[in-house]
Amino acid sequence: MKKLKVALIAHDGKKAEMVAFAAEYKEFLSACSLCATGTTGSRLEQNLGLSIEKLLSGPLGGDLQIGARIAESNMDLVVFLRDPMTAQPHEPDINALVRACDVHNIPCATNTASAKLMLKALIASL
Ligand code: PGA
Repeated sequence: MKKLKVALIAHDGKKAEMVAFAAEYKEFLSACSLCATGTTGSRLEQNLGLSIEKLLSGPLGGDLQIGARIAESNMDLVVFLRDPMTAQPHEPDINALVRACDVHNIPCATNTASAKLMLKALIASL
């Protein structure tokens, strides 16, 4: 079966939550083709030993790289834990990524409750 392509992105205030989420779903995520923005990817590698393609850090263009993959139909699912309490210097890039998901109808969870529901549904369908 083709590996599901999953992008993982977490703002600084949400990185610990991302690690906890990925730890809970490590078995499922290990079977996926994972990519992440730079710092998120490093944290997931260091903490969980996940094999993950690290793109540029979000503020340096990583969100746009993931957005490009979405636009090219090269992404199946996005977990983007945004920090709603902190202003981000790359807000336009963040909006572009979420917009790309909406344009191309790609599931995009922006909080762990949604992300867990998405993965639970996928796991149940296996
Ligand atoms: P980071 O980028 O994983 O490199 O911190 C995330 C973001 O801020 O979009």
